[in-house]
This record gives sequence, structure tokens and C-alpha cells, in this order.
Amino acid sequence: MIAQDMQGLLTRPEKTELHLKSGHNYQLMRVAQLGSGTPELAVVAGIHGDEPCGVRAIERLLDDRPTVERPVKLIVANEKALERRVRYVDEDLNRAFPGSPDATTHEGQLANRLVDELEGCLGFSMHSTQSHAEPFAIVNGLTDRATTLCPQLPVSAMVETSNFSDGRLFTEIETIEVECGLQGSETAAENADRLTRSFLTAVGALPGDTMARDLPIFRLTDVIRKHQAETYEVFVDNFRRVDPGSPFAAADGDAQVAEEPFYPVLMSPNGYRDVFGYAAEKVDVLQRPTAAD
Ligand SMILES: [Zn+2]
Repeated sequence: MIAQDMQGLLTRPEKTELHLKSGHNYQLMRVAQLGSGTPELAVVAGIHGDEPCGVRAIERLLDDRPTVERPVKLIVANEKALERRVRYVDEDLNRAFPGSPDATTHEGQLANRLVDELEGCLGFSMHSTQSHAEPFAIVNGLTDRATTLCPQLPVSAMVETSNFSDGRLFTEIETIEVECGLQGSETAAENADRLTRSFLTAVGALPGDTMARDLPIFRLTDVIRKHQAETYEVFVDNFRRVDPGSPFAAADGDAQVAEEPFYPVLMSPNGYRDVFGYAAEKVDVLQRPTAAD
């Protein structure tokens, strides 16, 4: 089926083919391709079904059908959860990797299929949050690729999460994740589009130049848990240093106070069921290279 599609693409190299892959008896994910040949790049949206921004970015690419200098695979991952507008159907897909063909959950099977589909690709996976409006990148390690590509994206920070990467897509497939903005917002969808095009430009799939910027790097060090309560509050801003002695969050008015300095990341009152977010340390600031011309 893939060979057949590629034939079609070879004769009409600018035409995008959208083909459906089916799982057992329901559709698992949507896969399309820009350009011809075997892709080493993949743009992934909809790992979480209540984060539609990336899907919009992929649909826009499919409408525009830009001429690419390297083939790019486009994947809308959790269609079933997207249809229902929920984060997941059975379990969090971004905690379910590597998954298994015999998994008893929808996401367990989907994770396995996604790994197959993404084999040999550098992934670019789009998310959105309830915690922070400005885009930032999430990586599983400070690899050369990560430190070269992320400063070329319109992001304000890079977060290294290797201490908390169990079950995430980038434990199986080298992937740069981006948080595009606030869940469901128009701005997040526009950011997803800009981020995708910057990524595709940075890796040489789209023509043109990217703009490098100074980029602070944070490493997650702790999970900030929250107790069962009626109301939750967060008093601090993500990526802004919290000093020892500062109250940073509360559950039913019961404040948590920082013992050590830290940087909050992905902190929000109601974004997750049992955690406020994460504590991070600031590792470095990648300096923009001085202009050659
Ligand atoms: Zn997500």
C-alpha cells in the first residue's frame, strides 16, 4: 500500500496523498506525506485528543501542499480521542510507549503502531497546555540535534525531561516536542503552524532561513504533587525563578512553600489530575551564534 502511494507521488511530486490506515476494525491514525521518497522527518499531531492545534497545522500543510526538498510524513495520531475531544480514550498515549500490538488499551495499540510508522524518522510532535501561552520545546536529552534545532524554532525555552520520560514518544523515536500554547486557543493553532514551518525549514525540508535566538535550557528535577481538594491555585509564573520561602501553590487554601529555589514548568491549577506541574533547574542559556554575514 505504501509502495503504491509512493508511485502516485512520484508521478505527481507535489501532490499530497492522504491514506487511511486501519487498526483492528477501527481507524487508528491518519498518515499523509509531502514529497516523494522515504521520509526521515515526521510531523505528529494529536498525541492528545484535546489538543487540536497540531491537527490544524497539519491540515494547513495539506491544503497548501508546499514543495518540499525532503519528504515529510504527516501523522494525526489519536483520531479516536480527537473525535471525542478528550486527552485519551483508555490511557495517556504519551505515557504508553512503546505499547504492544496485543495491548488491551486503544493507546497501547496505537503507541505500537506509531513507533512502526515513525521508524527511521526524526519526529516533531505538537502539544498544547493549560499552563503557559508561549511556545517552548521539550526534549529527552541535550543532543546535538536538539541544541541545534531548538534555537531555530520560535520558542522561548527548551525543557529537558529525561528524568520523567517514562512511556513518552521520544523514548522510542528521536523527537522534538513543542508546546504550542493554550489548549483550544486560536493562538496555539497559529503557533503550531509557525513552529512546524520553522522546524521544516531548520531541517532543510522547506526552503529559506530560520532565525536563531538565545534559548534558556531547563531540566525537570521534581514533580509538584497536589492533594485531593476542591480548589487549586498557582501563585507563580512558569519559567520564573521561585525563591525559598515563597508560597507557590495551594490546595483548598493550604499553601505549599518553596524550600529550595526552583523554576516552575507546566504548572497550572487544573491541568493535571494529581500534580500541579514540575520543578526545574536552569541548566544553561544557548547563545545565538554571531551572524556570519
Ligand atoms: Zn499533549
